[in-house]
Amino acid sequence: MNAAEPARFDLFIGGQEIPGHDGERALLTDPADGGAIASVAIAGRDDALHALEVAERAFRESPWAQDDGALRARVLRRLADRLETEAEVFARLETSNMGKTLREARGDIAYVVRTLEYASGLADKIEGETIPVPGPRFDYTVREPLGVTVHIAPWNYPLLLAIRSVAPALAAGNSVVLKPASLTPLTALAFARLAHTAGVPPGILNVVVGPGREVGDALITDERCRAVSFTGSVEVGRRIGEIAGRRAIPQTLELGGKSPVLVLADADLDRAARGIGFGIFGNAGQMCWAASRLIVHESVRAPLLQKVRALAEALRLGPGTEEGVDMGPLVSAEQAERVLGYINTARKDGGKLVTGGARPDDPKLARGNFVRPTVVEEIPTTSRAVREEIFGPVLSVFSFREVDEAVRIANDTRFGLFAALWTRDLGSAHALARRLDAGMVAINDPPNTYPQTPFGGVKDSGVGTEQGRRSIEFFTRTKNVLVNLGSPRKKPAS
Ligand code: NAD
Repeated sequence: MNAAEPARFDLFIGGQEIPGHDGERALLTDPADGGAIASVAIAGRDDALHALEVAERAFRESPWAQDDGALRARVLRRLADRLETEAEVFARLETSNMGKTLREARGDIAYVVRTLEYASGLADKIEGETIPVPGPRFDYTVREPLGVTVHIAPWNYPLLLAIRSVAPALAAGNSVVLKPASLTPLTALAFARLAHTAGVPPGILNVVVGPGREVGDALITDERCRAVSFTGSVEVGRRIGEIAGRRAIPQTLELGGKSPVLVLADADLDRAARGIGFGIFGNAGQMCWAASRLIVHESVRAPLLQKVRALAEALRLGPGTEEGVDMGPLVSAEQAERVLGYINTARKDGGKLVTGGARPDDPKLARGNFVRPTVVEEIPTTSRAVREEIFGPVLSVFSFREVDEAVRIANDTRFGLFAALWTRDLGSAHALARRLDAGMVAINDPPNTYPQTPFGGVKDSGVGTEQGRRSIEFFTRTKNVLVNLGSPRKKPAS
């Protein structure tokens, strides 16, 4: 192969790498400099249906679902170990495809390893119950896998968010069809190859890449799809929810956010500033739970803003692969334009820039999709830049005098994914946590999650949760078995 030629990635179906039915391919480019990095096979409807057929057959015929779980536990553990060995390769692939810094990508891959370990630990602990019933009867339940589960993932944490739901689905004995985002499919395809070498039977994990509307639709409208796990935008999530509702299949929808971070007058401002910086500039702000609305007590507004501003201005922008870079480019030129558009809206609506607000001046970054870390204040809460998810490194600042006012501003949004609050008074913190409309609350911590803790939102941020032990419940169904043991034998006459 010519060294300059971009790497080739094909679809992964039935344990094999195959081109799409129509031979269509897409060229993927590095968000840091626009250079070509990979040529990827693009699936169409026929490929989606083929993947479902292969997955359904593997579910029926392979030992994956039939085993007591020990096989799945072993294979998932082996896969975790192999991914850990290959972590650097995967991290570099993620960075070149998505743009995040190598440090962030390494963190993502370590998280996927931990997710697989956790799922491995659950695989042989999927248990039913015995339930007392009247008479000479015996009642028990078993938890059975669903069949083929479909997973649709976004581009901001490409492998992490895909495997977050794929790992428990596999642990529970299902077979999987995964559709990663078209912009960032490379690590999912490489992962499927690795899973195959680790012993996941052919057909149990399939990956198809293609346009959401055509391929995603084909996957979830087909009767072989028995559940759908979707992570992405509210608009697409609603559409998927409608289809899943019509088909009466289980769904989890992990959607957008506009998360508040409340800073009370007694907070440790240095820690809070670092947490705020991480919560909005991490992953270049492309986080569903980005803490994008800072709501600070007026008495500490000035010193806190000074710290956040200093922190934003100290961040070094550059290609994710470069040592010492703190923030990479946005995923695409379109996303960078979109974010800059929101900053313009904020300014037109009266917002004042504290820092950032434009592309960086450095000519070396001119070909990449970079946007400077941005802080805007005095922006009316009615502005589209406050009401809608920006999905970029843009923080809006509000202040409050009474806690009730802070809660009102925090909850004044269609979203409810995450909220952070900073205070030294833990008693008030717990009380306040209850008043916030959010699926997750962090007290004195930036957005932070673990494979063992539930992840999910309320309101327009979604339905259901992922991660944690309950993920196994989602990917299994309960069967109740009632046994009549017959009438007790009569005592023989003496
Ligand atoms: P998106 O909704 O555009 O795409 C997500 C996935 O859905 C992609 O794989 C896409 O190809 C597919 N898709 C698009 N149209 C489809 C259709 N009609 N039918 C089936 N599939 C379809 O979202 P995105 O731009 O990739 O990701 C950004 C969004 O994801 C943001 O809103 C962000 O908040 C959200 N997100 C949520 C979480 C969470 O856990 N709550 C995590 C990360 C991202």
